[in-house]
Amino acid sequence: MIPIDLIQTTAETLMDKAAIEIPQDYLDGLKAAAATENGDLSSFVLQAMLENYEAAKEDRRAMCGDTGTPRWYVKMGNDTRIEGGPVALEAALRRATANRTNGVPLRPNRVHPLWRTDHDNNVGIGAPEIEYGYEPSPSGEWIDLITVHKGGLFGTDYRMLFPSDGIEGIKRFYLDSLVAFGKRGLACQPAIIGIGLGGCKDTCMVLGKRAACLRTVGDRNSDPKIAALEEELKELGNSIGMGAMGFVGKNMVIDAHVEVGYCHTGGMQMSVHAFCLSSRRAVARIYADGRVEHRTDPDWFTPYQRRETVEWQPEMEAAE
Ligand code: SF4
Repeated sequence: MIPIDLIQTTAETLMDKAAIEIPQDYLDGLKAAAATENGDLSSFVLQAMLENYEAAKEDRRAMCGDTGTPRWYVKMGNDTRIEGGPVALEAALRRATANRTNGVPLRPNRVHPLWRTDHDNNVGIGAPEIEYGYEPSPSGEWIDLITVHKGGLFGTDYRMLFPSDGIEGIKRFYLDSLVAFGKRGLACQPAIIGIGLGGCKDTCMVLGKRAACLRTVGDRNSDPKIAALEEELKELGNSIGMGAMGFVGKNMVIDAHVEVGYCHTGGMQMSVHAFCLSSRRAVARIYADGRVEHRTDPDWFTPYQRRETVEWQPEMEAAE
């Protein structure tokens, strides 16, 4: 059984790490972008951000004044039991969010949408979001806690495409979105762009956000054709003449990730999400024996998460 106290203390450490330490894969991507950038202002922004990450780590302060909206992704094995059960788990994650919003400190961004009520701790109705996943392996009792402090409040969009819009339609909406994000300052670039294709409207949004936040720079979809599309979209996004913060340049996209879900045959839902210049994520795996392993790769999209169907026998065949 996973001790609940260990869940809370680990969650608090993760809150600190996400806010302060930029993940190495994003940092490497940004350094590669800085090495090729020749737009004056874009180059200036990239250099300033690289210095800013260093200063944040040294001073143990948040890397951006807007610390985004903390959320949790929780994954566990089939055998996992949690002390106090799932209700205790959710309370621990909410308490860790409140404690470290005060402690780091983070900006208490979360308010009631109508009354603007503010508990000063990033906790409220439906906040922080907690999403779940399960895995058949490894066996034994373990739980992955992943926190993402998502910024880029306006850097998200959705469109219902027709199947006949095809790949060209996908590229068009992608470019429309990036140009709007860049021109209107809707998310600080360069960003990791997540694209959700298919599902229903709600799952399409979930897929796109997970594609942006739960995959590392350089990671490619296990479907080779989708992987090729990701490469193409990355290149396309970096060829529209905009760079860091929408200034003239050639590095707007640090990486592009696509996740798909089966959809209604009549449509092709698409969402676009920007995981901004402060791509904040931190991960830890906790075992029942008390071990805690920290990492920055959520490793969310395993073959099990992308499983296509289920073992079954069509009833008509069974009747024969
Ligand atoms: S978009 Fe990201 S980098 Fe820009 S202000 Fe918001 S959190 Fe900070």
